[in-house]
Amino acid sequence: MSESNRLRIAIQKSGRLSKESLKLLKSCGVKFNINEQRLIAHADNMPIDLLRVRDDDIPGLVMDGVVDLGFIGENVLEEEQIEREMLGKPALFNKLRQLDFGACRLSLAVPNEFNYQDASSLEGLRIATSYPNLLRRYMQEKGISYRDCMLKGSVEVAPRAGLSDGICDLVSTGATLEANGLYETEVIYRSAACLIQSTQAQDPDKQALIDKILSRINGVVRAKE
Ligand code: ATP
Ligand code: ZN
Repeated sequence: MSESNRLRIAIQKSGRLSKESLKLLKSCGVKFNINEQRLIAHADNMPIDLLRVRDDDIPGLVMDGVVDLGFIGENVLEEEQIEREMLGKPALFNKLRQLDFGACRLSLAVPNEFNYQDASSLEGLRIATSYPNLLRRYMQEKGISYRDCMLKGSVEVAPRAGLSDGICDLVSTGATLEANGLYETEVIYRSAACLIQSTQAQDPDKQALIDKILSRINGVVRAKE
């Protein structure tokens, strides 16, 4: 496989970060024609290829140097970083900047009837989450032991389904928690989308293009503030 001299940027294919990531690139003057069926979209006016993938794959693609840049939620990025550090795999990246979308928090929540005092109320209980590493780090800092219930989806229904006592999940408005008879007790991590770059050496032309995009992003975000 030959190294491409086009800049590769990974964005979430479809989900909460997709629209805003694309919008930001477009407002930087990058022109794309997205074909929903295709993994790759070539920019018409710059040497840029867009890789449209699951958000969970983006940190690893950047850390392995498969792509040059990635738009990703800090929650997913940090979860992957802890995972890789545990496995002794490369976990390096440069965070170019935080972005003004994708804001959410990773929180502990319990059923309405649960008498919650503090995190130690969860001692020995089972907590459902898609973020086992961020949860473990938080609970270790507090010295609380709990039992895992790893779910990639449907975390918010786990207590009602009798799978767990509480959950640790992403919250933005709290409406999903409320709809499932849960209440938020503690924020364990605050997140927003960010732009990250691979630490692998870039050729000067690619780096110049990255610098140009970053300075345009800085301009676009500043104009909105
Ligand atoms: P994929 O199919 O790409 O794996 P997903 O279901 O894991 O998608 P989304 O629900 O689209 O992911 O969320 C992507 C990111 O959007 C989250 O990791 C988080 O950074 C951010 N986000 C912002 N608000 C919320 C929210 N209320 N719930 C979930 N994610 C949110
Ligand atoms: Zn995902």
